[in-house]
Amino acid sequence: MSIYIFTFIIGSIFASFIHVYVTRLLRNESIVSPRSHCTNCNHTLEWYELIPIVSYIIQGGRCRKCSKKIGIDSLLLEVLTGLLFVFVYYRYGFTYDTLIGFVLVLVMMSIFLSDFKEMIILDSTLVVGTILIYLLTYLNLGYRGIYKSFMYGVFGFVLLFVVKILGDAFFKRESLGGGDIKLAFLMGSVLPYDLFLIAMVIGSFTAFPYALFISITKKTNELAFGPFLALGLLVAFLFKSNILAFLELLIS
Ligand SMILES: [Zn+2]
Repeated sequence: MSIYIFTFIIGSIFASFIHVYVTRLLRNESIVSPRSHCTNCNHTLEWYELIPIVSYIIQGGRCRKCSKKIGIDSLLLEVLTGLLFVFVYYRYGFTYDTLIGFVLVLVMMSIFLSDFKEMIILDSTLVVGTILIYLLTYLNLGYRGIYKSFMYGVFGFVLLFVVKILGDAFFKRESLGGGDIKLAFLMGSVLPYDLFLIAMVIGSFTAFPYALFISITKKTNELAFGPFLALGLLVAFLFKSNILAFLELLIS
């Protein structure tokens, strides 16, 4: 039980870093300085105002100095990340898959923040995520593992690149962003091609209601697809044994 609580806390701490990192980069601010402050009154936050979840609840979701409401997105992000970390650990226990799962959760959260807000996927998110995944793959499976991951990564990249070219020609506008295609490399690096395709299907099906909602309420066809790809990736990774068993059943 205590390991789950510990995992939850680790997840929420990482989430609070991700929130600072994404919101600052989107505002073109430095990640390291100045120290975290209230965006309204500039009051520099003390350590006890920076504890994930706890500080938010104690302060009633307001700045301690000026009482300006703090956005609820950081709280949601911290709780959700903590819960997902717990679920990843529950699925894979004390293995490299758990560590890769943690990386995927953080990549997904970072993409949720930047892509829904500003329609971009930060390059640094993908670069750091990909490096960590290859490092873990190397430690777990050695060079052979890396080679396989790289080939599947290239498969994913090329596949989405072709989809983009066809999509651009068909819709006569940008269908997939460059970030989506780079994300496909990361996806392929974690998922063999059958699971990659399943992740694409999950991403497309979950994106569809959102696309419908956006086109009705905002009168635009601009759609952030990255978060749904990242969601498909995480689901396919967490349930890979179930999915592969199900595919086996379909074929036989
Ligand atoms: Zn304030």
